[in-house]
Order: sequence, then structure tokens, then C-alpha cells
Amino acid sequence: MAKKVYLTTAIPYVNAAPHIGFALEAVMSDCYVRYQRLLGNDVYFSSGADENSLKNVQAAEAEGISTKELVDRNAKLFEDLKPALNLTWDVFNRTSDARHIKGAQKLWSLCKKEDIYKKNYKGLYCVGCEAFYTPLEIKDGKCPDGHTNIDKVEEENYFFKLSNYQEFLRELIKKDSLKIIPQTRKKEVLAFIEGGLEDFSISRSVERARGWGVPVPGDDSQVMYVWFDALVTYLTALGFAREEKLFGKFWTTNPNRIHVIGKGIIRFHAVYWIAMLASAGVPLPTLEFVHGYITIEGQKISKTLGNVIDPFEMVKKYGSEVIRYYLLREIPSWGDGDFSEKRLVEIYNGELANGLGNLVARVARLCQEVSLKLPKKGKYVFLKEVSANLDKFRFDHAAFAIWEEVSRLDKLINDEKPWEKDGKALKSVITPIASAIREIAYNLSPFMPETSERIMQQFNGEIKSEKPLFPRL
Ligand SMILES: [Zn+2]
Repeated sequence: MAKKVYLTTAIPYVNAAPHIGFALEAVMSDCYVRYQRLLGNDVYFSSGADENSLKNVQAAEAEGISTKELVDRNAKLFEDLKPALNLTWDVFNRTSDARHIKGAQKLWSLCKKEDIYKKNYKGLYCVGCEAFYTPLEIKDGKCPDGHTNIDKVEEENYFFKLSNYQEFLRELIKKDSLKIIPQTRKKEVLAFIEGGLEDFSISRSVERARGWGVPVPGDDSQVMYVWFDALVTYLTALGFAREEKLFGKFWTTNPNRIHVIGKGIIRFHAVYWIAMLASAGVPLPTLEFVHGYITIEGQKISKTLGNVIDPFEMVKKYGSEVIRYYLLREIPSWGDGDFSEKRLVEIYNGELANGLGNLVARVARLCQEVSLKLPKKGKYVFLKEVSANLDKFRFDHAAFAIWEEVSRLDKLINDEKPWEKDGKALKSVITPIASAIREIAYNLSPFMPETSERIMQQFNGEIKSEKPLFPRL
């Protein structure tokens, strides 16, 4: 029976144009949902933009434009990643949208009264992280992430009683009722919870927010802390607080509620968000996949180093298929990885041009010699190694399994030497190899959908030699 699957990417701040780190998350998510759809499952896929942060307000001030202008312009760039990288999300949910705002307010109102209280608060606020730090965590005016825009804040805020949920969260994660992949991240969250949870601020004054943000229900002097409202995107993307048909189908009654996030925001997703939902009596996500960070040619991505990689430029240069393949195959899915153009060209020439491309061309030529026709095939299946790895979001290992199959066929051809044969003998050697190429194309579909489609077309009916899939660089 078809399973239901709801998968979300995190929603990036739109204070700047998208970088390769978000492209990684989007491509991983897309690969997973394409795989689920091929399995025949009923999938809903959401992405979006986090627009209510102070970062956006400050970026707009620096440019001398309104915050609304800035978020409209930049959110568009993130939406443009969809065609550029051949992504298939069903909805791109923006948190400055009136419909989202209504949903965030609804979730706030649903939280148990005893979980939200007001208190006077003094702290050091990093706008870069949109988080509070203790004086000990700020060294030489810098937060642990290296940001320098630290504000001293003293005001009355609403707080969420996270301490009420410590035991609940610990049990939930320990027992995998909320499954966290990979295991190292699960351990990290458990250690954080066991270290003791402190209540966190969930609002700020309208003045400090410069009037930008989601008003707290029943209190005109406060807007929601950006994380409180942003996380609700996962519900409002499905119509929470308005048309609730999709929400009922893919959230309330669906056992596969999946968030894909980067390692830097795991506390927000595996601790704060879960407690908020539990307090509101809304079902919790069931799985969180946590990917790592990308360095550029071995160095941390940084505006000052000027090494920010523009995914649009990369796609223009190499095409979306190649960028998708590089991100899924070269970046370790369960850890950190590096983006290097030199390495990209190496992989392109080695695995795509000489590997897959060459195999397909060789086999097509031999098939053409004997006018081989492959009958249409109805049902394909994923290789065991491929599906076992895709099931656990291990895209790199799944890709290796496909390339092992490419190598196996290469070796088979070299052993059988079909070019020394002709007629019937050639046909009988080449037929199973041509069929196996179609299987490879099917397995490749979540990774490189266009390449997969081209090979499928070429190997249906009478097989003809065509121009190379990947001309050497
Ligand atoms: Zn910071």
C-alpha cells in the first residue's frame, strides 16, 4: 500500500542570496522525495523562506530599502533554485505571508497556559545567530560562530517553560519515537537535554524588532521570537489554520513527518520545536535527518574570504545534473564535506564522462550493429544497496552502489569482448548488458533525473548510438 510521506527542507534566512549549503539540503531532500515517489508513495514536499528575522531588517537598513522589498527580492532567488536544480517541492512557504502569520499565532494560542510566562530578561543577543548567549560565551565581542553584532538586551519577554519537557524529550529521542539520523546527532541532542534545559525567550519588543515580525496574540507590545514563528512553517506549508485538508492528510494522520536540516539548527528542531508542539497538542515530527556543512576548497564559507559559491553560476557552467551528482556523491551525507571545482571536474571526467557516459555509448554502438530492440519494461526496482542507503539518507553510499554496477558492466564487457563477435553471438552477449543499463538508469533517477530519462529513452525499442551524455571537459 502507498505510504504517505511529508518532507520539509529548513527555511533559510533571506538576508542574502542562496549559497551552496542550502543547495545541498535542497538536492538531498529532492533526491529522497523522488525516490519515495518512484516507490509509489504519496509525497508532499515543502520548502520556504524565513523572513521575520532581525537579520533581514538590518540587511534592508544597510541597503536603504524596506524589509518587505528585501525579502521579496531575495525569496525569489531561493524559489529560482527550483528550476535551476530541477527540484520538485510542492510549495515554497514564506513566513511573511499573512496565512503563515495566522498559523504561528494559532500555535502560540494552543500552547498550554502554564508553559508561557512573562519575565524581565537581560542578555547578550547575537543577531547573526538570532540567539542569546551568556557573557562567558562571548569572547572579544564575538559569538561562538564569530559574529560581531552582539546586542545587550534588557526587556520584558515571554518565555517558554522548556524545563517542563526535559524528561519527555529525553524519552522520545532515546526510544526513536523521534528518530534522528545519523546516530552521532542523536547522541549530541541527548547530551544537550541531559545537561539540563532552560526556559527560552519566545518574544521580543516591537521596538527591538523595528515593528517587523509576527505579533504576539493579545499583546501589541511584543512580536514572536523569529524561531518560534519560523518553525511553524512546517505546519502552515500544509495549510494549518486555514484550509486544513492537506494538513490533516500529511501531518495529523501521516506517520512519516520528516524534517531535513543542517547540523547548526538541531536544537531548535529536536528540542524547542518538539516541546512547542507537545504543549500545543499537535502531533510531532517522526524523523529528522541532519546533514553537515560544506567548506569551499577546504575553507569555511565566509563573506570576508569571498569564497561564497553561487549555485546558479555553478549550474550555468556545469548543468544541474552534474551539480546534483557532485553534492549527493561527493559530500558525505552524514558528515561535513568540501566543494572544490577541481574535484568536480575530476569526478565529472572520471565517473560521468569515462564511467557512465562511456559505458552507455559503447553498449549503444554494439546494440546498433545488430539492430537490437529491447521490449518495453513495466516495473523496475531499486538495487538493494541503493534503497537500503536511500532509506537512511545516505546518498553518497547509494551513489557508490550504482557506480559499482557501472564498474561491474564495464568489467563484463572487457571479459566477454563482444566487439569480437557478430550476429547472434553478439546479440546474446549484449542483450543482458543493455537491460542492465536500463536498471542503472532507473536507479539513477532520484540523483540525475534528466540523464536517467535520456538513457531510458535510448534503451527502449531499437537502440541507436547517440551523442555522448557527458562530453569530456
Ligand atoms: Zn552568532
